[in-house]
Amino acid sequence: DTYLQVRGAGKTYPSKHGSVVALSDINLDVRLGQFNSIVGPSGCGKSTLLKCIAGLENITSGNITVSGKPLIGPPDRMGVVFQRDVLLDWRTILDNVLLQAEFLGHPREQYRDRAMQLLERFGLKGYEKRHPWELSGGMRQRASICRALLCDPDLLLMDEPFGALDAMTRDDLNVELARIWQGTNKTVIFITHSISEAVFLADRVVMMSRGPGRIVDMFDVDLPRP
Ligand code: ADP
Ligand code: ADP
Repeated sequence: DTYLQVRGAGKTYPSKHGSVVALSDINLDVRLGQFNSIVGPSGCGKSTLLKCIAGLENITSGNITVSGKPLIGPPDRMGVVFQRDVLLDWRTILDNVLLQAEFLGHPREQYRDRAMQLLERFGLKGYEKRHPWELSGGMRQRASICRALLCDPDLLLMDEPFGALDAMTRDDLNVELARIWQGTNKTVIFITHSISEAVFLADRVVMMSRGPGRIVDMFDVDLPRP
């Protein structure tokens, strides 16, 4: 039940001073339903790996397959959340969440009820008519997660989704996320530079280092969930 397979993946960025190796020989298998945290110091290639899996950047060697098929461009079965939210300030929170349906070319009215359910599940009931600038950073990131989940993706990719928030808000959101995840069994890749955050949330922790851009260790986590 391997969902995502990365084989011998490398990524080199061109740059003014020669080139930058961001990933080298990455091998990774992600099982359906597995929550993976990727942890490592700044610059070790975490964001690049996530963008390559999301189809937003191309690997320069190796291959990536999703459900056995080669990855070509951004697949519609993935949802992505970045460190800085990408909510549109002139749209309401509900319309921001519904944006995902528009991106994927689905009729938005079909997703209205699901959007409202997600907003309630993520503690944003009553805020659907508000605008992003009226919400706190934590609330905006929760809305971003609702948007990523709207069309029921097979894989959710999160790149330090709470990285720009203060420590207390981050801890609260991690507890909430762990609780929401229990039972949903969504396949997740979660990037963080915090080992404690990685271990707290994940079934498996993947450690990267500036080798450059290598996976240096992986271990399964078996902790009771909150
Ligand atoms: P991390 O997410 O672990 O901080 P990144 O994937 O952002 O690491 O970066 C890995 C390496 O690739 C770093 O050396 C970074 O400077 C470089 N890099 C990332 N994005 C680009 C880019 N668009 N152009 C050139 N170099 C890049
Ligand atoms: P993160 O912590 O998510 O890795 P960074 O602050 O390292 O974020 O990078 C922010 C953005 O800038 C990323 O999209 C990354 O791809 C890009 N970036 C990082 N390093 C470079 C670089 N040396 N040249 C060009 N773009 C880069």
